[in-house]
Amino acid sequence: MRVLLIGSGGREHALAVGLAADPSVSYLAAAPGNPGIAQVAELHPVTATDPAAVAALAVELAADLVVVGPEAPLVAGVADAVRAKGIACFGPSAAAAQLEGSKAFAKDVMAAAGVPTARSYACTDAAAVSRALDDLGAPYVVKNDGLAAGKGVVVTDDRDAAERHAADCGAVVIEEYLSGPEVSLFVVTDGTTAVPLMPAQDFKRLADGDAGPNTGGMGAYAPLAWAPKDLVPRVLLETVEPTLAEMRRRGTPFAGLLYVGLALTPDGPKVIEFNARFGDPETQVVLALLETPLGGLLNAAATGTLAQQPRLSWRAGAAITVVVASQNYPATPRTGDVIEGAEVPGVIHAGTARREDGALVSAGGRVLSVTATGPDLAAARDAAYALVDGIRLDGAQFRRDIALSAVEGRITL
Ligand code: AMP
Repeated sequence: MRVLLIGSGGREHALAVGLAADPSVSYLAAAPGNPGIAQVAELHPVTATDPAAVAALAVELAADLVVVGPEAPLVAGVADAVRAKGIACFGPSAAAAQLEGSKAFAKDVMAAAGVPTARSYACTDAAAVSRALDDLGAPYVVKNDGLAAGKGVVVTDDRDAAERHAADCGAVVIEEYLSGPEVSLFVVTDGTTAVPLMPAQDFKRLADGDAGPNTGGMGAYAPLAWAPKDLVPRVLLETVEPTLAEMRRRGTPFAGLLYVGLALTPDGPKVIEFNARFGDPETQVVLALLETPLGGLLNAAATGTLAQQPRLSWRAGAAITVVVASQNYPATPRTGDVIEGAEVPGVIHAGTARREDGALVSAGGRVLSVTATGPDLAAARDAAYALVDGIRLDGAQFRRDIALSAVEGRITL
């Protein structure tokens, strides 16, 4: 099978490693890719959000399967354009990707499907914002309605800050605050059959102890030994199946990766958000533990044959990833700094570039996602931080406490 992977971040590097390890993948290309992905795939330049350009590249490369990593190309219609050329594509249509592209759309689908989630209001003017904040009370949760690379959400007790964020965004969803540990559940689906992957936990805040601003994600780990045993079947029953059914009913079936972001509240798991693609950095840990060949699984989802797939198999042990971000992330990250120690197995490239002289340099906010596995979470953690300590990047920011509370058994439900 000839596979073309679209994207250039850490998630795509992890997907590339998984695809390259699948014996059924005879050829792997990535566009535009990054220097880490270049170690396992042939890179081609492309504007990932240009549906016609991606479809033309897939034809040129005689791809059997296109795997779309990020949300922006999906929302732009890349999967539709690829499928229009008769090529299988892992990723939802533009219409179905609205589950991520618009928070208001996602809330509407959840309401119609009876999915447990936070009470919310979609608002477009200051008066509506004010009424919603009054009704729901603090802590205030204000979400940009459109795509914001995981950074469009403000959770605050400060009423002025909540109103400012709403005014900056224009269209927002204001919702009830959900308390409880957060879990990310990835579901591979062909629109009808749903195959859940292993739940993972990510760390959205920049600094240790969940301090600082929200980011795209500063680390992740799996498995979640503390999660309720019935978590996955319950979320499939209460959330995933009704959502997929509602999307089919609307004539826009969702096929690809349904990312369910959950809060495990005292009233049970409730949806914080849907995404239409693999999460970054949780993908790095989930795929590190997945034994089932990745290409075959994604191809089954893309061709409507998931029901015939054998049960997934998983490696024993645990995985953790620690994101190394550039100075000043998540504001305006400094780029162009030389990185040393990053070209070793386990170091996933998220925002890197190759300078003309061959040096590896930072090229984004999240630069590396340092991933390790081990017989248990403590061992995986030690291995990941040993790798982090071998990296040199001026101004690097990373958390020291990824998975620490889980290792110490401090997570309570
Ligand atoms: P989102 O982009 O919707 O995942 O939001 C980013 C982060 O904001 C989430 O991972 C949560 O930590 C936080 N968040 C979003 N919605 C809520 C909510 N309703 N209650 C509490 N925290 C939330």
